[in-house]
Amino acid sequence: MGLGEWSGRLCCTAFLLAVAALSVSGCQAAASDTSIVIIDRVPRVLVLYPYDERIAATTAAGEALRSRLLEATNGKIDLFSEFLDLSRFPEGEHVARMAGYLGEKYAVRRPDVVVALGRESASFIVANRGTIAPGAKIVAAGFGAATAEKIDLPHDVIGAFTTFNILKTAEMARGLQPDARHLYIIGGSSDFDRARLTTARADLKQFSKSYNTTTYLEDLSIDEFVERASRVPRNSIILALTIFNDRTGRNFIPRDAIRQIAATASAPVYGPYQTYIDHGVVGGNTVTFEALGRSVGDLVIAAIAGKPASDLEAPQTYIADARQLQRWGLAEKDLPPGTIQLHREKNLWEEHWVMLVAVSGLVLVQAGIISALLLERRRRRKAECSARLHLLEAVHLNQSATAGALSSSIAHELNQPLSAIRNNAEAASVLLKSANPDHELIQQILLDIQEDDQRAGDIISRMRGLLKKRNEIDWQEFDLNDVTSSAIHIIHGEAERRGIKLTSTQPPGELPVRADKVHVQQVILNLATNAMDAMLDAVPARRTLTFATGLANEKAELRVSDTGDGIPEERLIRIFEPFYTTKKAGTGLGLSIARAIVETYGGSICAGNCPEGGAVFRVALPLSRRGERPR
Ligand code: ADP
Repeated sequence: MGLGEWSGRLCCTAFLLAVAALSVSGCQAAASDTSIVIIDRVPRVLVLYPYDERIAATTAAGEALRSRLLEATNGKIDLFSEFLDLSRFPEGEHVARMAGYLGEKYAVRRPDVVVALGRESASFIVANRGTIAPGAKIVAAGFGAATAEKIDLPHDVIGAFTTFNILKTAEMARGLQPDARHLYIIGGSSDFDRARLTTARADLKQFSKSYNTTTYLEDLSIDEFVERASRVPRNSIILALTIFNDRTGRNFIPRDAIRQIAATASAPVYGPYQTYIDHGVVGGNTVTFEALGRSVGDLVIAAIAGKPASDLEAPQTYIADARQLQRWGLAEKDLPPGTIQLHREKNLWEEHWVMLVAVSGLVLVQAGIISALLLERRRRRKAECSARLHLLEAVHLNQSATAGALSSSIAHELNQPLSAIRNNAEAASVLLKSANPDHELIQQILLDIQEDDQRAGDIISRMRGLLKKRNEIDWQEFDLNDVTSSAIHIIHGEAERRGIKLTSTQPPGELPVRADKVHVQQVILNLATNAMDAMLDAVPARRTLTFATGLANEKAELRVSDTGDGIPEERLIRIFEPFYTTKKAGTGLGLSIARAIVETYGGSICAGNCPEGGAVFRVALPLSRRGERPR
């Protein structure tokens, strides 16, 4: 073999410079002693492959060379390929027949450069150059300088040589398997295979000393190779050289033999050829097809351009099969620096980084929006909270004002039960002083005193609600009828004082609403006070204040109407504005506070005029469903 290290992808800078020289001379190259002269035609390059087309090492290197040359000359080059098949037909007759055939074939189109891939091709063309390509420049590649010397390569043949050195591959294996204690080296039975084994013995002499055992698996049949490799201890390193022939003389493409062995081997297998990758080998140190193709291409271009060129060494590199690393649990970090990893699955980030960046960006934007919304909600809640606090303060002031306005009539109202209590107490006292007190009468008097005390207590407790300051809404469910009745009780003294008749109509059932009871009561008191004010100038007999509760549009509704002058149409929209008043001592806050209260509990308030005269105010509150929590 020796041709496992070939490369194909070509970088162009140096090459283009050479081609520039070529094109300037109109495809005419002039050189010194080894010059080739091409006039009025594109250069011809013949590539000789030593084996048949199945040997990937040579075909891949040839392909790399071909694309390099085509790319550099813009396709202005004639490329010919010949497969000598010398592995399967090594006989002299075949070689002679081949030489004669190619000599005749290329008689009319003599190649300017012949590229001999592999040692066998080089020997062939050197022996037959006069027949096939007299005067052509020969570029040899794919074997070591030592081999070149051994086959006595003429000095005018330039070469891109590779060096077979199993040591670097062995060192790579040691890095990946520092705990390995056994070393196995596999080699076939052909001359080439034996030569490789001999070289490996010398190269690994020092290296093998650090292992408990070093075993050369040679002179075995393919089945024996497979069987022995499947029984080596797990802490072993297996180095595969070449197997062109096994002990029985069976012919192989080395990578196929290695694949059979590696498939069931009980320890990782390494090899110094790129072609072994994909056939179960972990990796090795090798010339890649790309690197060799580039090197050979450079030599061919230089030869065509007539530039002096000398032998060069194709650069070697470490390559590894990521799937095998995974199979044997070997760590990527233990690979030599710069190792080319083949079949490495991209991690999530490498494969989807665009999507990941986009999604992360989206998430960040979303998070930003959510934070902004949360902040906004917090601000809004804070604002709502402070607005509610302000409302509570305003309501409290409004309640105090109402209480103040009603205080004289309430005092008057309180006076009645208190006077009755006093009178009853005096009467009882007189009765007790008599010689024969009437116990039954005294008992009755005491009951009256109790009732009067209860009345006075009720009046005071109603007022207490009005005067109490609160920092939070006291949510509760209650009947709108009850609160209306309670408000009527509070104002009835004042209404009496002003000669106003109070009427009230209520539906038979309850009107359950959920709100702060005292607040709703305050709304009713505001409307009632305004109504009583509006009837100041009315004929005393017509002064009537009416409260009517009921259901309207599935809401609990209270209507407060009076028999005053009503509200002029143009003022109807303004009366709920703060500080709007038509009264001398008015504040213009009563209705705006009433509206704020009603809206806090999800209700509405509106004003209008009755057809028979006077104003009517409608308050609508949502009916509460039992169990529903206040929002
Ligand atoms: P104030 O009572 O301090 O004036 P309000 O906000 O309670 O403040 O009332 C605003 C105005 O609405 C009153 O000044 C009055 O002009 C008008 N108003 C309210 N209720 C009635 C009513 N029942 N009839 C006629 N006008 C009314």
